[in-house]
Amino acid sequence: MKPVLHIVGGGPAGLAAARTALAAGARICLIDDNHAPGGQIWRGGPERWTDPRARAAWDTLRGHPDCTVMQDAQVIGCRDASTLLVETGGRGVAVPFERLLLCSGSRELALPFPGWTLPGVTGAGGLQALVKGGMPVCGRRVVVAGTGPLLLATASTALRAGAQVVAIVEHQPWPRLSAFGLGLLARHGRKFLQAASLFAELRGIPYVTGARLVEAKGDDALRAVVVRAGGKDIEYACDFLAAGFGLVPNTDLARALRCDIADGAIQVDGGQRTSRAGIWAAGECTGIGGVDKALAEGRIAALDALGLSPSGRDLPLRRAAHAFAALLARTFGPDASLRAMCAPETIVCRCEDVTAARLLPHRDWREAKLATRVGMGPCQGKTCGAACAFLFGWSHEDARTPIMPATARALSDFE
Ligand SMILES: Cc1cc2nc3c(=O)[nH]c(=O)nc-3n(C[C@H](O)[C@H](O)[C@H](O)COP(=O)(O)OP(=O)(O)OC[C@H]3O[C@@H](n4cnc5c(N)ncnc54)[C@H](O)[C@@H]3O)c2cc1C
Repeated sequence: MKPVLHIVGGGPAGLAAARTALAAGARICLIDDNHAPGGQIWRGGPERWTDPRARAAWDTLRGHPDCTVMQDAQVIGCRDASTLLVETGGRGVAVPFERLLLCSGSRELALPFPGWTLPGVTGAGGLQALVKGGMPVCGRRVVVAGTGPLLLATASTALRAGAQVVAIVEHQPWPRLSAFGLGLLARHGRKFLQAASLFAELRGIPYVTGARLVEAKGDDALRAVVVRAGGKDIEYACDFLAAGFGLVPNTDLARALRCDIADGAIQVDGGQRTSRAGIWAAGECTGIGGVDKALAEGRIAALDALGLSPSGRDLPLRRAAHAFAALLARTFGPDASLRAMCAPETIVCRCEDVTAARLLPHRDWREAKLATRVGMGPCQGKTCGAACAFLFGWSHEDARTPIMPATARALSDFE
């Protein structure tokens, strides 16, 4: 009997793992909650991919007799340590597993500032995903602000879709950005070239550094953005603000499965094994580091789960990717000064309209939850939980099944 590997997440980590496992003679079941495979960076499905690595993985998976792909399928939690609960097509399906690989990716860190809940304000990756999904931005004015390389990628996506990118506002000062560039040049030549080509594409667009968001202005919708740079406030009229402050690992399912988490990421050893027997993890859910880290970790995890050794090329690739991840974190990890963006009257929990002033008197997440309903709306703290961790140093509770909204019909199928 062929061994079976269940994989949650159809991004680069999950696709690389699936391809590797099939090549090693296993059967795989890939479960992903998007309409099409690809995860974040390869969003939109095979017909839109330009990266040959995505195409190579999909060419192996598509139509393979040992490959089952469940798209539009959310793993909403687990029944026990060896059964996933999946909602698909409005029904609930229990999926038992022996070997499980978590490739659940990351989500954006949304930091609150005055006006961030106005229509027209999104995350940086959020705007990118909307544009890739077909939202028209042709001729619309876009400001991209926050910190990190995703700002440049988002500006490029908006520009290619015909938007007028009014400004890119980076929180880090120029000397730190230069040091990052030199670090890329010294150890990550390909990434340096990618960054240089993005800058070339975006030339002519004001790139304001050492600046932070003060306010998004508008009534029913966004009208303008105010940023502070060099002690002066600058106002940009715009239709969209893409505000990005980096990414946080998506550990919801790992928490529900009781895997160890540290520094916000799933803890893994050299074989990408989590603290729970029979469960591996790869990609951004084990730490933010980009597509190369996801691919190398996915391949290593798949082989380890099948009792095989990693290929000779993947260990150095993973080491290089981890060095890049550390450089990213050193340069763009959101620093405490960004807390000043959040005024007392700023809404922190947008589901339940809870302001910073109402949260301040509380000692921890649990106490604040009981007193204010923070984190108790539809997103169940997926957005405001990370914001509260950054603003107040509160750690999250363990995730419980269901880890995301599920229909009553699907839940009743699990009875
Ligand atoms: C919004 C956003 C935009 C980004 N844009 C870029 C970019 O332009 N360039 C870049 O270099 N990097 C970008 N990144 C970083 C990017 O995530 C990584 O480079 C790379 O995609 C990581 O691959 P991964 O396989 O680890 O995770 P992902 O690509 O995030 O894939 C994870 C997959 O798992 C699925 N999933 C998670 N939980 C469940 C569940 N419970 N049930 C079913 N499916 C589940 C997700 O929907 C997703 O399809 C972006 C990240 C985010 C969050």
